Amino acid sequence: MAGFGEAIRDRMATLAASGLRRQLRCVEVAAGPQIRVEGRWLLNFASNDYLGLANHAAVRGAAEESARAWGAGAGAARLLGGSVAVHHELEARLAAFKGTEAALVFATGYQAAIGSVPTLVGAGDVVAIDKRVHACLVDAARLSGAQLRVYAHNDLDRLESILRWADGRGGAKSGGRGLGRGGGQVLIVTESVFSMDGDTAPLREMVELKDRYGAWLMVDEAHATGLYGERRRGLAEAAGVADRIEVQMGTLGKALGAAGGFIAGSRLLVEYLVNRARGFIFSTAPVPAAVGAAAAAVAIVEGEEGGQRCRVLWERVAEFERGRRGEVIEGRVEEGATGRVNPGGAIRPVIVGGESEAMAVAAALLALGLYVPAVRYPTVPRGAARLRITLTAAHSAGQVGQLLEALEAVGLT
Ligand SMILES: *Cc1c(COP(=O)(O)O)cnc(C)c1O
Repeated sequence: MAGFGEAIRDRMATLAASGLRRQLRCVEVAAGPQIRVEGRWLLNFASNDYLGLANHAAVRGAAEESARAWGAGAGAARLLGGSVAVHHELEARLAAFKGTEAALVFATGYQAAIGSVPTLVGAGDVVAIDKRVHACLVDAARLSGAQLRVYAHNDLDRLESILRWADGRGGAKSGGRGLGRGGGQVLIVTESVFSMDGDTAPLREMVELKDRYGAWLMVDEAHATGLYGERRRGLAEAAGVADRIEVQMGTLGKALGAAGGFIAGSRLLVEYLVNRARGFIFSTAPVPAAVGAAAAAVAIVEGEEGGQRCRVLWERVAEFERGRRGEVIEGRVEEGATGRVNPGGAIRPVIVGGESEAMAVAAALLALGLYVPAVRYPTVPRGAARLRITLTAAHSAGQVGQLLEALEAVGLT
C-alpha cells in the first residue's frame, strides 16, 4: 500500500509542476448565472446550460413528476425491464424534434459515443476523426479497434487524403457481413460546433465528401442541439444536410438542461444499437427524473419559448462581441486559425497560451468575482490553454458588461 500511495503522489506532483493539477470546487447553490463557492457569490461563465433550462420551472417540475411516477431509478438495463414509458416517450419526442425515424437515449453523451462507434466499426475498418473532437469520441474510436486516422482541424484536404488512402486499400465497402464489422468501412466522426473553440465543421462539404467515397458520417451536436437551425435541431439542420448524415449524436445535458445523450437516425440504426451497443445493453437505464426533464426541455426548445430564449442568447453574444470591440476571436487561436469560427456562437474562447498563465488569469478573474474556467491540456492542445467563456440566455446584459470590464481589468482586451 505504501508503494501505491507514493506512486500516485509522484504522479500528482508531476501534474502540479506542469500547471495541470485540477481541483473540484463545491458549488453551494443550484448552478445558474450566479453561483456560490466557499460562501462567495460569483458570476458564472462556465455553464453549458445555454438556454437556462436546467432551472426552468417546467423542466424541474417534469423531473419531480417523473421521479414520483417512475421512481428514483429505472431498476435495470433497458433490455432487462428498465425500459419504462418515459424512455419511450423521450425517444419519440427526440425523433420528432430531430426529424429522424428514431432515437436512442443513453445515460450520458459520453456513453452514447462509446456505445455507438464500436458498434458500427471494428478491426479492419477506419475511423477518421477531427483532431479537436471531444475525448469521448476519441475514446470511442480507440475502443472500436478500427484504424484511427486523425485529420487536422476542419481540414477537408487531409480528410479527403484519408478517404483516398482507405479507398486504395480496396476496402470491401460492404459495411461488413453478417454480425461482423471490419468490411473496410470508413466512419468520419466530427462535432458540429466544437466544444472548446466554438467554431463549426463544414458539414455540407463533409457530406459531399463522404458520399463520394462511400464513407459514413457521425456528427456530435452536443453544443448545437437546441441552438441552430430553424427548428433548433442543430447545425446539420442549419446546413440543410441532416437527412444525409448516418449518425446524429446529441446530448441532453447542455442546451436541454437535463442529463444524457442520444443517437438519432434511421429506425434500423436504432434497432441495431439496441441489439449490439454494449454501452447501452450493459448499463442501467437513464434515471426517470433526467428523462422526464429532457422531454420537457425538448418541448420548450421546439416551441416559441425556445426561439425566444435563443434570441436572448444571441443578444448576449452580440453584446459581448461589441464589447470586445469587434475583435475576431479566431485571431487568437494559435494553431489552425483557419477554423470556421462562428462569430455568433455561445462559446467564446480567449486563448492565453501557457497552462500556468491561464490559471493565473482565471484566478485574477475569480478575485474579481467571476468564475471563468481555464481549460488546459489534455482538454485542449499544450500551449493553447484558454479561458472558455460561455454565455447563456440566463445572463443579463449587465452581467455581460461585468464580464467585459473584468476581462479588461486583467489585461485581456
Ligand atoms: C459534453 C460533451 C459530450 C459528453 O456528453 P455528456 O452528456 O456530458 O457525457 C460529448 N461530446 C461533446 C462534444 C461534448 O461537449
